[in-house]
Amino acid sequence: MGRQLSAETIKRIQSVYGFKTKKSLGQNFLADPGVISDIADACRLTEDSLALEIGPGLGVLTGELAERAGKVCAVEIDGALIPILRDQLAVYDNVSIVNEDILAVDAAALIEEQRTLPGGRRLSHAVIAGNLPYYITTPIIMGLIEAGVPADLMVFMVQKEVADRMASGPGSKDYGVLSVSLQYFCEVKKILDVPSEAFIPSPKVDSAVVQLVPKAEGRLRAGDEALMMRIVKAGFAQRRKTLINALSGGGFEKERALAALEACGIDPSRRAETLSIEEFVNLSDRMSERI
Ligand code: SAM
Repeated sequence: MGRQLSAETIKRIQSVYGFKTKKSLGQNFLADPGVISDIADACRLTEDSLALEIGPGLGVLTGELAERAGKVCAVEIDGALIPILRDQLAVYDNVSIVNEDILAVDAAALIEEQRTLPGGRRLSHAVIAGNLPYYITTPIIMGLIEAGVPADLMVFMVQKEVADRMASGPGSKDYGVLSVSLQYFCEVKKILDVPSEAFIPSPKVDSAVVQLVPKAEGRLRAGDEALMMRIVKAGFAQRRKTLINALSGGGFEKERALAALEACGIDPSRRAETLSIEEFVNLSDRMSERI
């Protein structure tokens, strides 16, 4: 077991270092040992794993990851947390702390650089994890995925409402642009609901942990991915409307949209929220054909 910090210990560290929590950086620190070890377990780490942690904060999850992985690389934007992290994690010789903005880091290059150990051994398994700062959850996740960052698994704590949107399928009220754009790349599973009392300070919203498994290379892909996303956005921008009306309202030529819908066997009176990812891909491929 790692060195999990209790609520009292978190408060003591904050007072010893004179550290003031910054709301603007989404700083809500995990103080529930059960949740911390559940997140670390969900990362399925072994000695052959590199864990890239986003936003280590006071290092509570970092320690748990370090117990299980070959190496942990933790990227933290707040310079005031770096000395605290160094002290808290001094017992581990497999943790490297990087003081950077994750949105400005080339995560693929960082993983590549960090996965080779000093003796030359290369860690074969890469996991990205973090209790994310909620003000930038979507840019972080979509940025990593769209850049094709080489991760075998990702485990993130996010706002519960965002987790529901990420993991929902067709027919659900939560199914939308985020669900389609994420599930186009990954299998998404919500694995744990986390109440706001698990954090110090408590955020105003409840949270959940999601597990993302990138789909294999040969996955279903649209010929023109930008066009597919335009279709998805137009469809959900007016989600109460029929697909044909939402598409023509979203700038697509009505005749062309109708012909494409019919060609792939999608009833034009359906709503976007009923379409599977496969149907969006087919529709996009038909729309991109010259008629
Ligand atoms: N992992 C810690 C925990 O569970 O207690 C802290 C989680 S807290 C919700 C989010 C952390 O992300 C904070 O430490 C915050 O400073 C950091 N952070 C915020 N924006 C960031 C960014 N752009 N790049 C890297 N870290 C960031």
